[in-house]
Amino acid sequence: MTPRHLLLAGAIALALSACGKSPAPAAETPAAPPTAAEQTVPADIATPPAVEAPAEAGPVETAPAAATGSKPAVVANCAATIESNDAMQYDADSITVPASCSTFTIHLKHVGQMPVAAMGHNIVVAKEADMRGIAADGMTVTPEHLKAGDDRVIAHTAMIGGGGTSSLSFDVALIKDGGPYRFFCSFPGHLALMQGSLQVQ
Ligand code: ZN
Repeated sequence: MTPRHLLLAGAIALALSACGKSPAPAAETPAAPPTAAEQTVPADIATPPAVEAPAEAGPVETAPAAATGSKPAVVANCAATIESNDAMQYDADSITVPASCSTFTIHLKHVGQMPVAAMGHNIVVAKEADMRGIAADGMTVTPEHLKAGDDRVIAHTAMIGGGGTSSLSFDVALIKDGGPYRFFCSFPGHLALMQGSLQVQ
């Protein structure tokens, strides 16, 4: 090796060493000893950027509703009101229909703000055994997410977005036998969190 080559190799080694030890570019001060930059990390680089926590983005991690239901809907005058929200939830997971009612009405309110295409909710009344099939067949049917003329559906509201309301009514005789029956949302992916029991008593 010639002295020129040695000098070059030394410079490369110094540059590599400087690069490896400091995240800051050392281009302006190539002659500075590596120890000068070693301990100095600029505070604004070391500080991680503030991250906004997605408070309501994901589904709430709660245990799935029991078959019997733990949040009964308030029933009065053969009707109940169920609220739904932007967190993919109903505010009740059980509706008990009084046996004295001949028809029963469920009012659905969407108290969130998200549009129907992103966070649509409905209420579908059907046999528990038909629930998954109804939701699967309605998956690609927009905007209602119910197959046209699906005779497994006993009653359903419209699919609504934030601020919307819709109601359904059905003949109570239709759910007296042959159950169990459930109410649920047929928007794709919502069934797991949005369903509840429906019984006559
Ligand atoms: Zn829904």
